[in-house]
Amino acid sequence: MRVIGFSRGRYYVYIDREPLVGHIAFGVIDRGTNVLQIRPTTICPYSCIYCSVDAGPFSRHRQTEYIVDVRHLVKWVRYVYDYKGGDVVEGLIDGVGEPPTYPYIVELVSSLKKFLPRVAMETRGGTLTKELVDALARAGLDRFNVSIDTLRKEKAVYLQNTPWYNVERVREVVEYIVRETDIDVTLTPVWIPGINDEDIEEVVEWGLRIGVGKRFPPFGIQKYEVHKYGRKIPGVREPTWSEFRDFLEVLENRYGVPLHYKKLDFGIRKTKAVEPIYRVGERVVARVVGSGWLWREVLGVDYRENVNITIVDIDFSPSLIGKRIDVRIIRNRDSIYVARKE
Ligand code: SF4
Repeated sequence: MRVIGFSRGRYYVYIDREPLVGHIAFGVIDRGTNVLQIRPTTICPYSCIYCSVDAGPFSRHRQTEYIVDVRHLVKWVRYVYDYKGGDVVEGLIDGVGEPPTYPYIVELVSSLKKFLPRVAMETRGGTLTKELVDALARAGLDRFNVSIDTLRKEKAVYLQNTPWYNVERVREVVEYIVRETDIDVTLTPVWIPGINDEDIEEVVEWGLRIGVGKRFPPFGIQKYEVHKYGRKIPGVREPTWSEFRDFLEVLENRYGVPLHYKKLDFGIRKTKAVEPIYRVGERVVARVVGSGWLWREVLGVDYRENVNITIVDIDFSPSLIGKRIDVRIIRNRDSIYVARKE
């Protein structure tokens, strides 16, 4: 890995040699289903007021943005795919950044399509152009999950906290995708109670009108959730799951389409998962390879097991690079490893 930039107090790091399993922000994540999450970049140009991963120019918690080398990433996806005996139905390019801004996104999709049955991508849509959409269609992209929380211009600028975000342009591009390409669209707005209730309804009406969801569920409404390092909207309470279900049920009855995630059929099922290498509480030696994603984190690697380990509660300094540190594992779920210095 190498530092390719430093801006607004953040490192920009290119990863081309380190393992790509073990970190939540980049690489490959297997949560024990037939869908693999593929994370090529942490960079996002928006600063949504509710962002659960505190992305974008206004981030307060991030120390590093990562960009992964495309060939290296495909090699690791293939490794996890083979480990699972090929029991993978979809590669979902998602993450804590905005996938279409990844400079090698077309190459990534076409390389993945050589062995994955389908490839989908999450996006906010503001950086999509018809040219990029056409290139992704030729590369074999199967679906966009477009997160569009309102159709109103000013409200979209407020929610995305991005003056240049033009939801009317996003609408045009989405309509182009549905009309002119084989790529399907699932609309995935975030419901924020009291902020965009009517807007969600308008998004559903618009989606039905233009014909999203030709092969996949047309909608996958998301719930506003508050996370420790995410952004919170002052004065807005996170809805409970039953409030969320009740809200969706009203719309489901009105429009006759399933909206609750438990009713949506993306063909996802449980499969063999990558086994956690460590137990929680286990002592491990990690070598520091760079700055951590968030402040007070460093990025470590266990080269014996070939996995990343995030070491928390430690300040990064370049003098730490190459040092071996004794750590104790505090998280191992989904083969994402977090540890604390001993
Ligand atoms: S919610 Fe998504 S699009 Fe918005 S800032 Fe966060 S990562 Fe970016």
